[in-house]
Amino acid sequence: MSSIVQMTRRVTFSSGHRYWLPALSPEENRAKFGRWASPFNHGHNYVLDVTVEGPVGPEDGMVVNIKRVDDALRSRVLAEFDQRSINDEIPYFANRAPSVENLLGYIADRLGGSMLSVSRDVGGQTDAAVKLTALRLEETPLFYGELDMSTRSVSLTRIYEFAAAHRLNSSQLSDEENVRRYGKCNHPQGHGHNYVLEVTVGGEPDPETGMMVSLDALDETVTAEILDRYDHRNLDVDVEELQGKVTTSEVVSLAIFDRLKTKMPDHLRRIRLWETARNMFEVSA
Ligand SMILES: [Zn+2]
Ligand SMILES: [Zn+2]
Repeated sequence: MSSIVQMTRRVTFSSGHRYWLPALSPEENRAKFGRWASPFNHGHNYVLDVTVEGPVGPEDGMVVNIKRVDDALRSRVLAEFDQRSINDEIPYFANRAPSVENLLGYIADRLGGSMLSVSRDVGGQTDAAVKLTALRLEETPLFYGELDMSTRSVSLTRIYEFAAAHRLNSSQLSDEENVRRYGKCNHPQGHGHNYVLEVTVGGEPDPETGMMVSLDALDETVTAEILDRYDHRNLDVDVEELQGKVTTSEVVSLAIFDRLKTKMPDHLRRIRLWETARNMFEVSA
């Protein structure tokens, strides 16, 4: 029996930043960062999730005291980032792009890498370390990055929406059996969902821009391959790759993953399809 438990703590901070490196000319900055290039700051309300894991302590019943994790996050991350200009106030970013990829790597190092050292006692007398397994940094509600500490690999996720109609009905089952299995999802005239699609990509960040993929290119691919073809359509009739299939979210997820994989073979890591706010389907490479 496993005695290992993962615990995730969420903190938030607000920071300003800009995509504009002082070592480059204005022309070079514009060429490198495209529509994100500006010599002036903009800001984000960041959401940082820190996941640690370990055995449950025999005396206190905890993996780690959350108050001690908060102390570490406050002194090593929030003090540096919250209400600050990242480019101007954190030396590491003086001439490095403050991309989500670079921010995750920096925060991981500030927390001590694969082990998060915390003081175990309230008085801070005894130092302890707990295994840091993952960081997740949300820059906007539609964009977040994740750092897997075991591989030090970063992935980026964009979130999209489409509305579509469908009906769950298998030609291999009798009418009675379709009703029995799918219930109201089998109603003859169909029904609809506001689907939420998360597309996750990975790869090596460009050393200068700090970015592993062009988010513009990702958006264009997902829009052309999925959103333009699925949004405000009937999945059973209008979408070529779903013809003759039962459009369960399992089947739709696989179809979306396969289509995006042919367009982004090196970068696609995962898709998640939320059919409603209460059910999510995931396919990974
Ligand atoms: Zn930004
Ligand atoms: Zn449905």
